[in-house]
Amino acid sequence: MKITFLGASSEVGRSSVLVQTERKRILLDFGVMLDHDIRFPSYVSPKDVDQIVLTHAHLDHSGAIPVLFIRREIPLMTTKLTSELANVLIADFIKVSGYYLPFETLEIDRMLQSTVHCGLGRTVQLDGVEITLLDAGHIPGSAQIYLESGGERLLYTGDINTTQTRLIRPAETNYPDVDYAIMESTYATVEHTERSLLEKQFTERAREVVEGGGTVLVPAFGVGRSQEIVCVLYKNGFPHPVCIDGMAERVGKILHGNLDQLADPELYRRAMGNAHRINNWKERKQAISRPGVIVSPAGMLKGGPASFYSEKISQVPRNAIFLVSYQIPGTPGRLLLEKNVLAVRGRLLKVNARVENYDFSSHCGKKELHGVLKELSRRATRKVFIVHGEHESSLALAEAAKQDFGLEAEIPEVGREYAL
Ligand SMILES: [Zn+2]
Ligand SMILES: [Zn+2]
Repeated sequence: MKITFLGASSEVGRSSVLVQTERKRILLDFGVMLDHDIRFPSYVSPKDVDQIVLTHAHLDHSGAIPVLFIRREIPLMTTKLTSELANVLIADFIKVSGYYLPFETLEIDRMLQSTVHCGLGRTVQLDGVEITLLDAGHIPGSAQIYLESGGERLLYTGDINTTQTRLIRPAETNYPDVDYAIMESTYATVEHTERSLLEKQFTERAREVVEGGGTVLVPAFGVGRSQEIVCVLYKNGFPHPVCIDGMAERVGKILHGNLDQLADPELYRRAMGNAHRINNWKERKQAISRPGVIVSPAGMLKGGPASFYSEKISQVPRNAIFLVSYQIPGTPGRLLLEKNVLAVRGRLLKVNARVENYDFSSHCGKKELHGVLKELSRRATRKVFIVHGEHESSLALAEAAKQDFGLEAEIPEVGREYAL
């Protein structure tokens, strides 16, 4: 088996690994980098790919896939839920940045027609390669990829969370034997706040702001985080209006059709049933003038209604913006967090509202990543490739793998072929 990394080395974005076995060339993820502009993974010719396997719907794993469908159709394997969510996210990506993309909706249609669904825990045989998708606990539908060929066993964690959340179950880490692993390292230097404590703090602070007459904007990724926040507020008895906007609403409908994939379908049904939907500009303008919580997509404040909300809400001191996702360097969300300013139409706007950051991560923190390393060390893993993290994080996890768990570890070089 040979593997080549096409991106996501010392960066969070453009995740993609090309795996070559004797008879198959399999691409694991093909995502984009979304910081200042859109960047693609290293070049791979579509005719050199026999199969694509997708871990989850986030654009940093799925966003470049349509490029491969410009002149060809390639079989794509993923969970049913990831396929449905990726369709929404990529279509939205085209709507927001169409001019800068080399593909359009035609390529998404082709991609959907070439997709074969695979349930979590099921093993599929492809020309001498066995592929199993394991729950990744990251967002609804997310999977890790376990691949076996010619006696070699490779695990690709994709993005992984081993902590149970209000929305989904934790990742499967009871792995079969693993020879080589490719592991994410987004939060390798961060200890996450314990979930139930975090939920209480978040709900209490939202309550204080709203009871002081303010509006709380929660810019959250449309897939997963938005719905989780709605569930958290409901479960913790938040007594004021919660509005949910745009894509979060469309994604909500998809989740309704896949309730068996959620941790607590009944909580989900009740929490979403209790939230107000916002569908147009009239309702958006009304929402910002009323005390309550607005959950809107665009987790890093890039595009979408969240730009409108943040501009208006940020100007009033009694309001608040609660960030609940990782903010990639170079995004408006990171700028807000670090400098307390908003980038609006090319100029910087001073923020009067309170800005707070809540660590609702859908990724493992330091302790949980070390837990995964421990599992791997028990399975006689020969080497771990560390990806999907800023350089310091990846370095820290590689060091821990070597020092604390006796594993060989490396941050791979993009474009170099590794013979396993
Ligand atoms: Zn992700
Ligand atoms: Zn990712």
